[in-house]
Parts: sequence; structure tokens; C-alpha cells
Amino acid sequence: MAQILSGAPAAEALTAGLTVRSRELRERGITPTLVILRVGAQEESRSYERAAKKACTAAGVEAFTIELPENAHMDAVLHAVRSINAEPGVHGALLLRPMPFKKTERAACALMAAAKDVDGVSPASLAGVFTGSGGGFAPCTARAVLELLDYYGIDPAGKRVAVVGRSLVVGRPLAMLLMARDATVTLCHSRTRDLPGVCRGADIVVAAAGHAGLLGADCFAPGQTVIDVGTNATPEGLRGDVDFAAAQGVASAVSPVPGGVGRVTNAVLALHTIEAAERLSKN
Ligand code: NAD
Repeated sequence: MAQILSGAPAAEALTAGLTVRSRELRERGITPTLVILRVGAQEESRSYERAAKKACTAAGVEAFTIELPENAHMDAVLHAVRSINAEPGVHGALLLRPMPFKKTERAACALMAAAKDVDGVSPASLAGVFTGSGGGFAPCTARAVLELLDYYGIDPAGKRVAVVGRSLVVGRPLAMLLMARDATVTLCHSRTRDLPGVCRGADIVVAAAGHAGLLGADCFAPGQTVIDVGTNATPEGLRGDVDFAAAQGVASAVSPVPGGVGRVTNAVLALHTIEAAERLSKN
């Protein structure tokens, strides 16, 4: 049976280190602070907001919400982003997505200051991830995958990694982060031929396609690590992109859903806010 790569101990270890760093910042008169910008009151956004705040509190990060009504005009949303960018007491900002209007969401993401963009939504942040310049931040979920691998001592260097999903939120930035760690990455998507064959040939498979149970027994091989980023609401509850039982029967290690990457993502949000506060305090 495969080892189960639970997110909880990885998140707890990360958070323990963060409490030390947030205390050091507070001793210098800096309270690491995250602002969450929410437009509307979708339950999915609110639930993510609650989890984000809980992770921040555990790490010594102050988190508060700016809430705008569902029908907020684009000008009001952009005004909120500008004030976040300008407020010296705010170090990180999280724009809850999807926003009710795609055009507003795109404009808000583009306007976000890279130094405070702790979930890597702006083109400037993504440019930093893609060029490896070290500025800005990667999307939290992409970094969470690396944190989970690191916690369990799984080094991607020199390994073949199949990333399934090429979105700008997970797959693409994750491929860049893995390449920066010397992995050989195959970025798979909905038009990839023989997806099971590509996955079987990899040492590490990361599933981020958004289809419950997409990767079945024919995608796994002995010795493999399987990381499931997918979070899909189904009548049976939350399910990942990986057929967990099938992966567990073949691979060496597999992350569960729920209780895997998602748990680490929230801790990474706190990590990025502390990193942002540390960087901004040096300027
Ligand atoms: P998305 O819909 O933007 O992108 C999905 C990607 O998967 C696309 O690139 C598409 O080409 C690819 N894909 C779709 N069907 C495929 C198929 N049959 N074969 C191969 N590739 C296929 O989704 P997203 O925003 O990247 O999210 C992906 C999943 O990760 C979702 O389940 C989402 O809920 C989850 N997610 C989890 C976290 C977390 O913290 N755990 C955070 C963000 C997203």
C-alpha cells in the first residue's frame, strides 16, 4: 500500500516556522497583514476565506476582509485594489475568485502590486515565476505542491514529472517551479495523446485537471509519487482528480483529497504574506 501524503503535518510544520518569523516582525513593530477582497457572498468563496483566515491566525498573520456587493461596479473594485496597493500597513492581498464579472476580475488582477500579490494572480507575478527572477509570488497552490513534496523528502530534481492541467492558477506555474528545481516536466492537457502512458512513464504525477477520478489505475506505476490537486464537488462529497484506491494499490505515495494539497495551500498563503512583509520592511 502506498504511503499517504497528508497535508496536515506539512502545514503544521510550515506554520510552526512561520510563528517564529511573524513574532520577529512584530518585535520590529510590523504586524504581517493580509487583506482578502471579496465581491459578492458566494459560499465557496466564503468557505475559502474562513480557511485562509484560520491559517493566517495560526501563523501570527492578521487577516481582514474588504467585502463589496455582488453588483459592484468595476471602478469600485479597482478603487479597492488601488487602496490596498497604497496602504503601507497591508503586506499581502488575496482576490477571491471567481468574481461575478470576468472583465472586472481580469482588471483587478492586472492592477495588483506584485509585491503584495501573495497568490500570484497578476501578469507581473507570473512573469516572475516564468523568468525565475525571484520577484513576486507563485500561486499558493503551485507552491503548496512543492512544500508537500519537500516535507515528505521527495526531491523532484532529475525526476520525470507529469503535470496534468495547464491553467495559469496551477499547472503552468507549477511546471515552472518544478523546472526551477531541476525536474523534467511534461505538461499535459485535454488534448494530450495517451495521457495514461505519459503518466505511467513519470516518477511524479501531479493531477490538476478538475475532473473527479480522471486518473485511474492505468495511469500509475510502482515507485511513483502521485499528488492530487483536484477538488471536485460530487454527490459523494469532495473528490480529487485521482482514483485514490487505484493509486494506493500501485504507486509508492499518494496525497488524499480532502486533506492533502488544499491544507498546505492555506499555510502557503500565510507564508507568502510573511515573506511579503519581510521584503517590504527591507525597502
Ligand atoms: P482549469 O479548469 O482552469 O484547468 C484545467 C486544466 O486541466 C486545463 O488546462 C485542461 O486542459 C486540463 N484538462 C481538463 N480535462 C482534461 C483531461 N480530460 N485530460 C487532461 N487534461 C485535462 O482548472 P484549475 O483552476 O487549474 O483547477 C484544477 C483543479 O485543481 C480543480 O479541481 C480545482 O478545484 C483544483 N484546485 C485546487 C486547489 C487547492 O488548493 N487544492 C487550488 C486551485 C485549484
